[in-house]
Amino acid sequence: MAKRQYEVWQGKNKFIFKGRLIFGPDAKSLIVTLLLIIVPVIIFCTNVARNLFDETSGNIAGYAILMVLVLLLLTSARDPGIVPRNLHPPTEEICYDSSASIDIGRQTPTPRLPPTKEVIVNGVPVRVKYCITCQLYRPPRCSHCSVCDNCVERFDHHCPWVGQCIGLRNYRSFFLFISSSTILCIFIFAMSALNIKFLTDDYGTVWKAIKESPLSLVLMVYCFIFLWFVGGLTCFHLYLIGTNQTTCETFRIRYQGQGLARPRVYDRGCFNNFRQVFCSKIKPSRNNFHAYVQENETGFGRAMNSGGDLEGNRREKVEDDREIGGDLLKISQRREAEDV
Ligand SMILES: [Zn+2]
Ligand SMILES: [Zn+2]
Repeated sequence: MAKRQYEVWQGKNKFIFKGRLIFGPDAKSLIVTLLLIIVPVIIFCTNVARNLFDETSGNIAGYAILMVLVLLLLTSARDPGIVPRNLHPPTEEICYDSSASIDIGRQTPTPRLPPTKEVIVNGVPVRVKYCITCQLYRPPRCSHCSVCDNCVERFDHHCPWVGQCIGLRNYRSFFLFISSSTILCIFIFAMSALNIKFLTDDYGTVWKAIKESPLSLVLMVYCFIFLWFVGGLTCFHLYLIGTNQTTCETFRIRYQGQGLARPRVYDRGCFNNFRQVFCSKIKPSRNNFHAYVQENETGFGRAMNSGGDLEGNRREKVEDDREIGGDLLKISQRREAEDV
């Protein structure tokens, strides 16, 4: 029976609506994120907003939360820019290393794939790595997400709060999500503070005002803590966008002293960097998880092996390596036959 691509997918993603929506394996954490956003807004609308400006602030908070939730869905339920896996290693990249030959009694060159290769980006050579799991040379700025087990274009990081990789196709919505959450946070903090001020005017002291509306104080404390997190993240990403860097590249440089792909290669000046993130067209997905696939094109067996415990992963990695070895040997033998 024909299967759809999401049914034989080798990454660890979760799908709903027959592959129309794709999530990371930790998508359950989305429930926590949703509660962290929705609960305080409900408390605000039902307890604080009704005292302020004929509930106008409650309506504003209502529309704002709708926008935040749509942006959250656009970030976590879409393909972040997954590069589809190859079924075989790229044969055109194989080099033959005779000094490393271990064949008994014969001087057969050992076929091997170089672990890195150089590509030119904006006139500057950039090293790209070979991904053993996906059997491809990663495009520049692409990294393999260990949580989802996929190579993702312009990989920024895997966000456990949205349960998805942040990459080429969802970075814009991710940034808009965290920045609108920051604005919502500031708004609720300010309105709760204003409510306490109005109550103080009515009852005489701040203590009496807090006693009258303790939830206003709770919301202020909650938003203050939350603001450090989302506000800090928004500022950090503003810096990253302005300098055209990804979180992954920034931390790689910090810990390794130098990055494989030097971030300055992509810097086109602050204005153009912002324009690239906010005004460029989102690249179409390279995958159609809803589409039917043929069994021999996808390798069902490996799809069924993927995921699972650490031991399972190790076994899969060994199988991957064996498979590459087998593929390379076949190519080598074919070339030998051709030479004869
Ligand atoms: Zn990969
Ligand atoms: Zn991921």
